[in-house]
Amino acid sequence: MNGVEMQKVLVADDDAVNREVLGELLKPEYTVLLARNGAQTLERAMRHLPDLVLLDVMMPDMDGYEVLRRLRADPLTAHISVIFISGLDRPEDEASGLKMGASDYITKPFNQTVVMARVALHLQVVRQRRMLERLANIDGLTELANRRRFDEVYELEWQRARRSGRPLSLALLDIDAFKQYNDRYAHPAGDRALRAVARLAAGATRRPGDLAARYGGEELVLLLPETGALEAAHLAAQLRDAVAALMIVHEASSVAQVLTVSVGGATLEPGSLETAPALFEAADTELYRAKQAGRHRVSWRDSGAAVPCARSLAP
Ligand code: GH3
Ligand code: MG
Ligand code: MG
Repeated sequence: MNGVEMQKVLVADDDAVNREVLGELLKPEYTVLLARNGAQTLERAMRHLPDLVLLDVMMPDMDGYEVLRRLRADPLTAHISVIFISGLDRPEDEASGLKMGASDYITKPFNQTVVMARVALHLQVVRQRRMLERLANIDGLTELANRRRFDEVYELEWQRARRSGRPLSLALLDIDAFKQYNDRYAHPAGDRALRAVARLAAGATRRPGDLAARYGGEELVLLLPETGALEAAHLAAQLRDAVAALMIVHEASSVAQVLTVSVGGATLEPGSLETAPALFEAADTELYRAKQAGRHRVSWRDSGAAVPCARSLAP
């Protein structure tokens, strides 16, 4: 697939010859995984998250229908495309397989060219779906996650933090005097500056689970799971310094001679009963405080964390 990573196909069949034939057929174009029963299919699907499963209907112990039902029941594997391959060739069998949520139904004995064509077709659908999901979740200007994606992830991470009793930190970042920047240097320059700040925010969120998103306008949000107030406030302070270090000249700013940001943050402490909206509001209040206190600074809610002071950037 010219340079692009190969898509993964899991072939599940209790018949060794079928597995072998299908595996060899698909290998030149796809990464092929094999499973010889229902339990192994579920285990491999969970572990490798294939793009497509070619699923035999009749297998001992757990048949293909049951495998499909279980794949659909787990959010991790619910969206994996499945093509049934079956010796049951009555129209009713085919109809019920499709009704269960299979993408397609191929009867045995199968024709190799037809199998390849259908696999290719369904994998193309998978690629298109992924691209649409990506477009729906990404902000076009900054290429960060968009507000919609943030709202989704925030809710999930908040629940996870409440369950696990681990902290969750939230930081809101807002560019200082950005209206004046646009007025002075024009909108395209403003867009470039915003993109540069977004790149730094993306770079600051490196742990799995971290998320940098564009919340709206010139406001970004960082979601930092399993990160306590002290650590999160330090990360925010580093980001604030990194933005100033870009040295984007801003002669119209009353804060400094370069573009700066203010950050407000709050941490959901283990054992706290705070709601997700309340945590967000707390971070927003801190952002307001940072602005009131003169901008180009980080304000974190009662963390006891000594936020490193802004380096002097006298206007
Ligand atoms: P403060 O220091 O209080 O944050 O002042 P500010 O001027 O940054 O805040 P204000 O809310 O008054 O103005 C925000 C500005 O951000 C106005 C708007 O045109 C600009 N802005 C928002 N989104 C974009 C964008 O995508 N591109 C550009 N170039 N400007 C944007
Ligand atoms: Mg079988
Ligand atoms: Mg602003």
